Amino acid sequence: MQRTSAATERDRLRIAIQKSGRLSEPALALLAAAGLSWQESRDKLFYYGESLPVDLLLVRDDDIPGLIADGVCDLGMVGRNVLLEQSYERESRGAPPAFREWRALGFGRCRLMFGIPAEWTWAPETQLPGKRIATSYPALLARWLSDRGIPADVVTMSGSVEIAPRLGQADLVCDLVSSGATLVANGLKPIEVVLDSEAVLAGPADGFSDVRAGIADLLLRRLDGVMKIRDSKLLMFQASRAVLPGLMQLLPDAEPPTVMALDGHHDGTGDVALQALCHGVMTWQRLEDLKRAGARGLMVLPVERMLA
Ligand code: ATP
Ligand code: ZN
Repeated sequence: MQRTSAATERDRLRIAIQKSGRLSEPALALLAAAGLSWQESRDKLFYYGESLPVDLLLVRDDDIPGLIADGVCDLGMVGRNVLLEQSYERESRGAPPAFREWRALGFGRCRLMFGIPAEWTWAPETQLPGKRIATSYPALLARWLSDRGIPADVVTMSGSVEIAPRLGQADLVCDLVSSGATLVANGLKPIEVVLDSEAVLAGPADGFSDVRAGIADLLLRRLDGVMKIRDSKLLMFQASRAVLPGLMQLLPDAEPPTVMALDGHHDGTGDVALQALCHGVMTWQRLEDLKRAGARGLMVLPVERMLA
């Protein structure tokens, strides 16, 4: 009998993350920023949660959706590309949905794209029928093709997809890229985004019905707080009230600011001190623009914690 997450009783939450790869370090950093700490097992495959009842299992990223489906893990941090590929694959053989994306995590960004011979001009509807496309994401690619009614041969490979055309195994590829440099280095032209991907928090299709529900809620609230302030800064400056509207136009990413009258100017016309939480990156250029528009004593402070 296949177990499901809901059927597995546990009083601690277990999260699967990638053991070694692109997602390992940022996943651990995000969880640590959310206040988690662990005791590592000697083989470094299991981290026992100390500050919260949240344990980590370190595995291959491709195993993460299946571990959630089987109820071995409750949550996982995995690329959307892997999660969707396995969702579509389950769907294609009639298996019920067992996991879904709970949150986008903002790291591990990449795109699934076609890599075509450099001399082609992209015209998928007429060009692709009958062609062989090498990919590690056959279900994602099959969905893209069938949505457009394009009959092409999907050649599934587990790695080194980009060399398939040179080896004569395929005519083009559909592969993960960040800059596209790997495709270009193999004489291929990156074109057409099949999927925009980043690391996501994956969880069961339904929530939890035992004590894990509360732990997961707490964790999600903390993760949301960490992600919200990742690029956020507290901006402080002084200015005369008259120039405030102009200054606020330069801060479209700011929360409604706190405005305080400076001593001796309580008549509503004088100078104010202002502090605002800004969610965009606060570059020197932006500070110089603010100064030109009348801000004085500009100060940018890091935000350490936030609880909405
Ligand atoms: P594992 O041993 O865990 O199976 P892997 O070789 O499948 O490792 P990585 O290469 O570390 O895994 O990639 C993990 C995830 O990182 C990918 O599934 C994808 O979501 C993301 N990623 C970000 N940028 C890239 C990129 N340029 N190429 C491939 N994956 C990327
Ligand atoms: Zn993998």
